[in-house]
Amino acid sequence: MAGSGATWYPCWPMSDAHTPRLLDGKDLAQRVLEKFRPRLEALVEQGQRPRLVVVEVGENQAARSYIRGQRRGADSWGIEYDLRTLPASTDEKGVRRVLRELAADPRVTGVLLAMPLPAGLGARSLQQGIKPSKDVEGVHPENLGGCLYGSYRLLPCTALAVMALLEDADVDLRGKEVVVVGHSEIVGKPAALLLLARDATVTVCHKDTQDLAAHTRKADVLVVAVGKPGLIRADMVKDGVIVVDVGINAVPDADNPGKVRLVGDVDYEGVAPKAAAITPVPGGVGPVTVAMLLRNTVLAAEGMPPPDDPSQLPLFRF
Ligand code: NAD
Repeated sequence: MAGSGATWYPCWPMSDAHTPRLLDGKDLAQRVLEKFRPRLEALVEQGQRPRLVVVEVGENQAARSYIRGQRRGADSWGIEYDLRTLPASTDEKGVRRVLRELAADPRVTGVLLAMPLPAGLGARSLQQGIKPSKDVEGVHPENLGGCLYGSYRLLPCTALAVMALLEDADVDLRGKEVVVVGHSEIVGKPAALLLLARDATVTVCHKDTQDLAAHTRKADVLVVAVGKPGLIRADMVKDGVIVVDVGINAVPDADNPGKVRLVGDVDYEGVAPKAAAITPVPGGVGPVTVAMLLRNTVLAAEGMPPPDDPSQLPLFRF
């Protein structure tokens, strides 16, 4: 379907024996990387190889798998990747000082603050210490504000990945019922804003939503970013739904005692037979998020990009 130019409407008529279309994140991620490779090569030729610095406060196992994925991506792409692990006892002043140094260092083109932070450190206030033009995760208020105003520069990688997967599949969002489950500042809220910019009718659900299923059953497109395996069951979706499962959860692997496997927030086995299209976990949103991080890293290294014009369609096609 990619590149066919055909508009692909949610809610296909369903047959009894239905196999959903798989929204393959690995394939899309590869295409994103190929698209940006010439721009990276141009930077390297000019002696401006991008340098991404990841600041981690204390060693956090939850962050480590994301960091490993980032490093693999950066290495394979020829982006310098530098992990700075600060002692877990570092206070906000100390983290801010490091972020200031990185903001001033012309050799550093991208900065990322690894989450979660130790208790007592405020993510919001620290993210404001990242220089907006080096904010490759799109978490600084200036970049997040761009989601609201439709002035897109460095957008949050996962929200961008959600849009890229939908646009790549030619899903026409205009007027569709889109339900986003999860309202974090890094995923759910920016994704909702980008979906609104596509003129979808967006409902945002969260931990205090009464009767989640009543909302999810209405969804033509369901985006789930919570962190709870099995949250969305087959009886909570309608036939023909398009599902983007952002969740990443490690659960015990029944086939390999003592080992874990990764699953999303959606009960894939139950929901997939009802879905018109669905992202796998792993292999869906995750690889596209990493590709978007590398894309943002190239954009940041080129200098603060001019804002994209959201009236230009398609905006998120790579
Ligand atoms: P978060 O903890 O910041 O936010 C969780 C959200 O889920 C909150 O808005 C909360 O209100 C909502 N929630 C909690 N319980 C709920 C319930 N029972 N019903 C409805 N909503 C509920 O998490 P986050 O950083 O947004 O990440 C969410 C998930 O996405 C996690 O599993 C995370 O690992 C994953 N993630 C994946 C990628 C990727 O690249 N695929 C990137 C970022 C995050």
